[in-house]
Order: sequence, then structure tokens, then C-alpha cells
Amino acid sequence: MVTPVVDAAAVARAIEAMTAALGGDAIQTDRAALDEFRDPFWVRGADDHDVAAAVMPKSVEEVQTVVRIANEHGVPLWTVSTGRNYGYGGAAPRVAGSILVNLSAMNKVLEINEDLGYAVVEPGVRWFDLCDALEEQGGKWWSSIPDLGWGSVVGNSLEYGRGHTRYGSHGSNICGMEVVLPNGELMRTGMGAMNGNKAWHVYPFSYGPSVDGLFMQSGMGIVTRIGWRLMPRPEKYASCWLHFDGDEIIVPVIDTMRELMLDETINNYPFLGRGVAANAEGQPDLDPTSQKWALRFALYGYEEIVTAKWRIVERKLGAIPGVQLGMKLYDGTDRVGPDQGIHDDRVQAGIPGMELLDLYKVPFGPDTGHLDFSPVGPLVGTEVLAMVRRVRGLYEQFGEPYAAGLMLLPTSIIVVSVMFFDPKDEAKTRAIYDNYDPMLKALAGEGYGLYRTNIYKMDAVADTFDFNDHAMRRFLETLKDAVDPNGILQAGKQGIWPKGMRDR
Ligand code: ADP
Repeated sequence: MVTPVVDAAAVARAIEAMTAALGGDAIQTDRAALDEFRDPFWVRGADDHDVAAAVMPKSVEEVQTVVRIANEHGVPLWTVSTGRNYGYGGAAPRVAGSILVNLSAMNKVLEINEDLGYAVVEPGVRWFDLCDALEEQGGKWWSSIPDLGWGSVVGNSLEYGRGHTRYGSHGSNICGMEVVLPNGELMRTGMGAMNGNKAWHVYPFSYGPSVDGLFMQSGMGIVTRIGWRLMPRPEKYASCWLHFDGDEIIVPVIDTMRELMLDETINNYPFLGRGVAANAEGQPDLDPTSQKWALRFALYGYEEIVTAKWRIVERKLGAIPGVQLGMKLYDGTDRVGPDQGIHDDRVQAGIPGMELLDLYKVPFGPDTGHLDFSPVGPLVGTEVLAMVRRVRGLYEQFGEPYAAGLMLLPTSIIVVSVMFFDPKDEAKTRAIYDNYDPMLKALAGEGYGLYRTNIYKMDAVADTFDFNDHAMRRFLETLKDAVDPNGILQAGKQGIWPKGMRDR
């Protein structure tokens, strides 16, 4: 376990220099104001991941200035776009005493390309902002969105966040980045590496190695803009659901879904929920014995296509004993408001909202915290059932209700489960985070890694990626030391520590 010590005097000098360079308005140092950046899902009142200050650059040049000052003084920075990464640490840094670089003031939608279907956004652009901008331009393009609309396109995508339309693999939707490197230099990736290149945000590769992935879940740079793929508004959209009661029905459902996804009958990213989230209306179902599952998925396209696809879906999925299947058909131009339809109908049509937050507040009231545990496996029915039973068994062992939201890709699945707690209850909160470690070990021992984790578990999860005595970690540390020799950026992010802080 790494316990880096931050030189508070150096941090104070860096804050002074940033204040001089950017103006006092750009820096927050007031303790009460900084509490806003604490992780709302960590022990209430705990100060062990507090930032020393928060700086809010308004331009790329100001980001470069901040990075250069951090190098001069050798102080750690932690970047957020909007800091809504709840469940993973929110805006809180891995290293206490870091200076938070809050990019939410850089919030321009720089371009919407109506012919090619992409947007270019700055880090502070929230899902709400992008979708409003798309509507203002006539609504011919939809964006994929995650379940809550208040976070940013950039922050979520860099974390490999997930959405629920055709372009729900947010990490893959990025096409061309602009990045401030840890030495303060500005770089553009892909075709953008050429001055004036016309295909920066449409051609996804580079001349030579593609480096975009190096800036995802990473401390190798501060991303200041991305190109983002959009989906053409379909003529018709069917919001579909399937319910069943009994874990074993997961097997035929998953195997049939794989077929339908691989042949592109279903071409969104479906979601299979237990307890919370899918077909969420009213109360979560946290009865530990309940085996009620709800799957949601969508069909998009011309009326003839959606009608034909639905017939195929009915024939294939409808034939599974014990399932109920249904759908609601919308015109692509219907923008379902908060009082119409349910969350599933809206989120699969790229209409951002906050309704799911209410559901997540039911277990312990407005302060409810949750910790997600998300191993990835192959999309094979028997494998998915085995993973669900394994994780459910661990929840039973800990005496926690099993709530799950499984995210389907055409050949893989993220078997997300959720533990709820009240962050005001310190002992319980710590116990929930402690439960994570045996779950992690158990699943890693059986060949399942996590797709994402929160700041407290970054080292533990990195330890599980152990092929050839952590060859991947050594490679990433080599890169980290080369591009960030002073170790100023996102130290410890995903378990990658700069040279000066490694004590392994
Ligand atoms: P959200 O969009 O959900 O508010 P955050 O802004 O909290 O997401 O970002 C999630 C994580 O992604 C951060 O903790 C940070 O590690 C990383 N991150 C966010 N924005 C950037 C960025 N512009 N450049 C590099 N890393 C970033």
C-alpha cells in the first residue's frame, strides 16, 4: 500500500503561484468550500482524501499554466471534468493534499457536425448540455448517455463509462483528443497530430501507434477536448423489456441475447437488472431472496426494420419458458419528458435525466451511498449465471441484499453489483469497503477482472492484473516515469504510481 506524503509548504507555494497566474477567482482554498469535493460515499466527515485547493482553469492555456506550476513546485494534481464520478470517489483525489484541477468551467460544445454526426466537446460539457445543444440544432442526432445526466461526456468516457444506445461503449466513441501532457505541452492525437487535418474527429486511428487509450483511466495527461460520435435519430425506436423470476433463466436469456446482438437484430447495449435500475418504477426490490430480473433493450431504425426486428425478438426471446416480453414504440421525434415513459425509455433514446438518483436514495434516505463491484466476463449464459451465483453468495455471506445491473456487450458482460450503505454510519461504511477485498480476490482467482474501481481500491485491483509478474504495470510505470518525471499528475490513478511515490 502506497502512502505518499505531500509537501504542504510546496503546495502552498504552488497555490500562490496559481493565484498570481490565474487570478484569485480561479482558486478555492476555503475549507468549507473544498468539502464539496469530498467523496459523498465515503465516511461522512473523514478528511483523509481532502484536496488542498481547487483550481478552475478557463482555457487550455490556463491548464498548461497550472501543470507547469505543479512541475516547478513538485506538487500533485488530480483532474476532474465535473467530479460526478460517484461510487468511484467523486471529485476526491487518490492522494490527499493534491490540488484539484476542476475543468467544469471549460464547458463549450465546440462543434456539432450535422453531416458526419460528431460533436467536439470540452471537459466541462455535461450530458445535459450536449443533449440540449443537439436539440437546439434540430434533434437529428442523438448522443448516448449514462443513467445520470449531470456528469460530463469527457470524464465518463475516459473512465470507460457506459451508455445505453447503439454508441453506449463510451470509451470507443471518442475520436481524436487534445491533451495537455504532464510537462505542460499540448498534443493532439490521431489525425489531429497534423496541423489542419480534416479527419481528426472522423478517422479513429493514428499514423503509427494509437495513443488515445493511454489517456483513459490514466494519469498521463489532462484531456481538454474530444471528438464524440453521435447516432442518427431513427425513424422509430422500440423500448423493449423482458421480465423473469428465477436466476437459472439467465442462461437461455443471455445466450439468445448474444445471438441477437451478434447478428445486429439488437444493436444497443442492453441492461439486465435485479433489485434496482431496469424497469425501475417505484421502490427498489432489495428482498435478498428475490430472483426477479428485468432486462431492457432497444430497437432502432426505419419502421419496416423495427417491425421486422420485433418479430424476430418475439420469436427468439419470447420462446424462452418463464419470460414476459413487451415493448413501447416511439417515433424518433418523440422526446419523452420526465412525466412520460420510464427511465429505460428515456435513457435508450439519449434523453438525460436524474430520475435514477431518487431510486438510489431509497435504501438510506438522501445520503445513501453505494459501492459498485463490477467484474467482466464472457457473454455465455452458463458463465454469467455462475458469476451471478458467486457474487450473490458473497453478498449473502456479508448479509447484504444483492442488487445488480449487468451491462451486456455483444460478447462480454460487466456483472455490476451494488452495496448500499449510510455514510453517516462509519462502522458500516468501512465494513462495506472491507467486503470488497474478499470479493475482488475470489473473482480474480476465477479469472474475472474489474472494469473500473474507486480511489480506495485502485491498488488492490491493479494487483489482480498479475500476468508475468505484473508486466503491464511495469510497462505503464515506465511510460509514466518518462512522460511525468516529477510525478505531478493523478498519482496512483488505477494503481500507477510515479517513481518518487513507489515503495513497492
Ligand atoms: P464525471 O463526468 O462523472 O463527473 P469526473 O469528472 O469525476 O467524471 O471524472 C472521472 C475520472 O476521470 C476522474 O477522477 C479522473 O481520474 C478522470 N478524468 C476526468 N476528466 C479528465 C480529463 N479531462 N483528463 C484526464 N482525466 C480525467
